[in-house]
Amino acid sequence: MPPETVEVRRSSRRRRTVSAYRDGEKTIVLLPAGLSSTDEEQWVRRMLDRLAAKEQRRRPSDDDLLDRAVDLSARYLDGEAKPSSVRWVENQQHRWGSCTPDHGTIRISTRLRGMPSWVVDYVIMHELVHLLVPSHGSRFWALVERYPKAERARGFLEGFSTAAHGSAEEC
Ligand SMILES: [Zn+2]
Repeated sequence: MPPETVEVRRSSRRRRTVSAYRDGEKTIVLLPAGLSSTDEEQWVRRMLDRLAAKEQRRRPSDDDLLDRAVDLSARYLDGEAKPSSVRWVENQQHRWGSCTPDHGTIRISTRLRGMPSWVVDYVIMHELVHLLVPSHGSRFWALVERYPKAERARGFLEGFSTAAHGSAEEC
C-alpha cells in the first residue's frame, strides 16, 4: 500500500465532533480547532484506525465469506446448502455471483466489495439457494425470500447495475 496522505482540516465552526473520510488517495480528518498538537495526533491516529476497521468490515476475506455463507444456510435454509468454499473473483463483469453445485463452490464478484454487508449476504444467499435449486423458478425464489432483505438488496443491485451499465443483471 502507498503511504497514506492525511489532510487535517481544522474548523472553529465545527462542533466538538471529529470525523474522517477517504477522498480519492487522500484521507481527510476533520477536527475542531484549538486541540493541542498531542491531542490532535491522537485523534488522527484513532480516526485512521476506526476508518480502517470500518473498511475491513466492508472487505471481508474469502474465509469471512464462507463463515457468512454457513451462517446464512443455517439460519434460512436449515443448513441444507453446504458451501465448501466462497471466494472473491475478479473476472465476473456481468454477474454478481456464480456457483458450481456439484462442488459446493461459490464465487462472488469483487465489484461487490465495499457494498453493505446485507447486499453481499443477499448475493451469497442467492448462490446458496442455487446449490439446491439450479433454475430461477418459484421454488428458488421462495427460498431466497427467506432472507429478510432479499427484496431490498435486489433493488439496491438493480439500481447499481442500471447506473453502471444501463441494464439490470442477475446471475
Ligand atoms: Zn441466480
